[in-house]
Amino acid sequence: MAALAPWIVGNWKMNGLSSDLDEALAIAQGVAVGAHARVAICAPATLVHRLAGALHATRVEVGGEDCRAEESGAFTGDVSAEMLADAGAKLVILGHSERRAGYGESDALVCGKVEAALRAGLHPIVCVGETLEQRDAGEAVAVVTGQAMASLPAALAGERFAVAYEPVWAIGTGRTASTADIAQMHAAIRGVLVDKFGDAGAKISILYGGSVKPANAAEILATAEVGGALVGGASLKAADFLPIIEAAPPPAL
Ligand code: PEP
Repeated sequence: MAALAPWIVGNWKMNGLSSDLDEALAIAQGVAVGAHARVAICAPATLVHRLAGALHATRVEVGGEDCRAEESGAFTGDVSAEMLADAGAKLVILGHSERRAGYGESDALVCGKVEAALRAGLHPIVCVGETLEQRDAGEAVAVVTGQAMASLPAALAGERFAVAYEPVWAIGTGRTASTADIAQMHAAIRGVLVDKFGDAGAKISILYGGSVKPANAAEILATAEVGGALVGGASLKAADFLPIIEAAPPPAL
């Protein structure tokens, strides 16, 4: 299997109005011809269709930030994977810690959402990560590998997807995990992927997320087993996001 390009994915969270479409265009127009990364912006559902139109024919793909497992029905306020795909999304973030914590999303629920994403032809990015309390208690690896085991359905075999390791204490805090901690956790996640998916598990992208910014991107992206980055705050402005995209190294052989 060919080595995959590093995947640099922006997570706009609950940010973005019509007036921000120009910023997304500036990102797309600024991606250098020779950039090594596969680039995406995951945006609020209200922007997905317009972003997909605006970024059509650029190197920047558009994704959703969550979806419901069901295809349609009486679920007021929710968005299905099919709706995201219909709006032009190519990928979707699932199991983000802000949803696990804020909406009580369990591994089983995330698993069902991943299956829905596959059903709709979206590439899922499945987030896992420990809280500071869990890390301080020495439980980080067990928590994260447990989440990975239980959030990744067998249906992912042969599909394009990524796991994003996002320590909860590093998200939006300005704190990043050390490269040693990132390498250790990504190796542990790699073990889960190989257990679950055999040889193919060795090639699945594992992204790091948590206060990635221009100043630390190159070091993080060069760390063992890091196959890209999930970027929150620093993906909102072209001036911050473009240097992160440019820091992506060529795919490892
Ligand atoms: C995120 O929310 O996925 C994230 C990584 O946020 P930030 O980069 O702002 O820490």
